[in-house]
Amino acid sequence: MRCPVCASEKLSEETEHASSEVHLRFKDWEPGFVQYKALMVYPARGRVCLACGYLLFFAGEETLETLRKGRPG
Ligand SMILES: [Zn+2]
Repeated sequence: MRCPVCASEKLSEETEHASSEVHLRFKDWEPGFVQYKALMVYPARGRVCLACGYLLFFAGEETLETLRKGRPG
């Protein structure tokens, strides 16, 4: 795995993500009872580039599987 900014391979070990403030939202992901529901993607784990300090975040497996399946319907 390489840093997407500086291409260094010197990354920290993987660790848990500690805040829910950073997230991505896919609007109108799936039909709900009254209106479409959004899919929220939160970082579950991350690494730090030891060369430039860039933070790499990764979604959890469950969310990843939901995204791989694509939008329902
Ligand atoms: Zn880097």
